[in-house]
Amino acid sequence: MNYFNLNYFISFIGLTFFSLQTPSFYLANNFNINNSTQPSQKSKSEYITIKAVGDIVAGTNFPDYRLPRNPNQLFPKPVRDKLKNSDILFGNYESTLTNHPYTTKNTSRGMVFAFRSPPEYAKLFSQVGFDVMSVANNHAMDFGKIGFSDTVNNLNAAGVKTVGAKNQILYTEVKNIPVAWIGFCFYEYCNTVQDIQKAKALVKQARQKAKIVIISMHVGREGSDALHVRNQTEYFYGENRGNSVLFARSMVDAGADLILGHGPHVPRAMEVYKGKLIAYSLGNFLGYKTFSTTAEKGDSLILEAKLNQDGDFVSGKIDSIQLDKTGIPQVDKYGETIDLVRSLTQRNFPNSKISINRKGEINFPEADVASKDTSK
Ligand SMILES: [Zn+2]
Repeated sequence: MNYFNLNYFISFIGLTFFSLQTPSFYLANNFNINNSTQPSQKSKSEYITIKAVGDIVAGTNFPDYRLPRNPNQLFPKPVRDKLKNSDILFGNYESTLTNHPYTTKNTSRGMVFAFRSPPEYAKLFSQVGFDVMSVANNHAMDFGKIGFSDTVNNLNAAGVKTVGAKNQILYTEVKNIPVAWIGFCFYEYCNTVQDIQKAKALVKQARQKAKIVIISMHVGREGSDALHVRNQTEYFYGENRGNSVLFARSMVDAGADLILGHGPHVPRAMEVYKGKLIAYSLGNFLGYKTFSTTAEKGDSLILEAKLNQDGDFVSGKIDSIQLDKTGIPQVDKYGETIDLVRSLTQRNFPNSKISINRKGEINFPEADVASKDTSK
């Protein structure tokens, strides 16, 4: 608790809820994703490879100045290399990109934080290779609707698509396969993880146009005592933060193919449910001078998930990352996060059909590979 007073980055409690149901916030985008980072890696492979990371705060200039001298140092080269070689790179963008001066949060109260990063940082994320970022989280509205639309517009202008505005379905295309994205969080300004019937309806709507539906969920308690996945509603500082198991499995029941969880600021277990991968929490990924990185809060990962053309999980990999004391990700040669996610998966899902080995490879023996292994 020495360096920053933000050692516990948590959301504020006395939120003024916003409703973003005005038409201008209804975004339905159509576009093609071309992973510009590794054009040479493109192949005729019938699989889709997605890489995903958790929470990202690239420093803040509010309420005081916590930005790096050079933003490029936020993503060291070995980490950038690990983020390459996928069809889509996803992350949860847990700050704003705005110059708007007024926060909606009462940051004079303890444990209440508002994050504001410079708009020009949007380019950093496109340079690193992010294709899609979630803005459905408890910091998206730190600077109100203006800050939110600035964040979305700045990321989009830099070539990074965003998902998570209320009622938004983001439509993308990967290897000629239509892929839809929907983002959820536990506040009313998001598509909420608590309203499962409405969430299911959104997934069904997405499925009408897309063959694969990917869900971003910001859900659950935070911190080192929030490592375990339980099929029950989680509360944090009195807030209902959803039941991640019920929500994720309900989304699969409704037709979703991949669930990317984040929010607890620690990694959590994974499971395959009805052939679909659910990653319950990807942990922190970048929290420059904002996140606590003690214990499991510094354990991070890059998840790689390979799906067949029906969105079924085929295989995956965990790259172990550690956040240093300033919250910058570093490649971890010791595989600490692999061991953590491996043991959590064994413990929380003892009947899980996936196994994670010491190299971080996620094997799913029941994967329906052969019948999908055609180049048609
Ligand atoms: Zn959060």
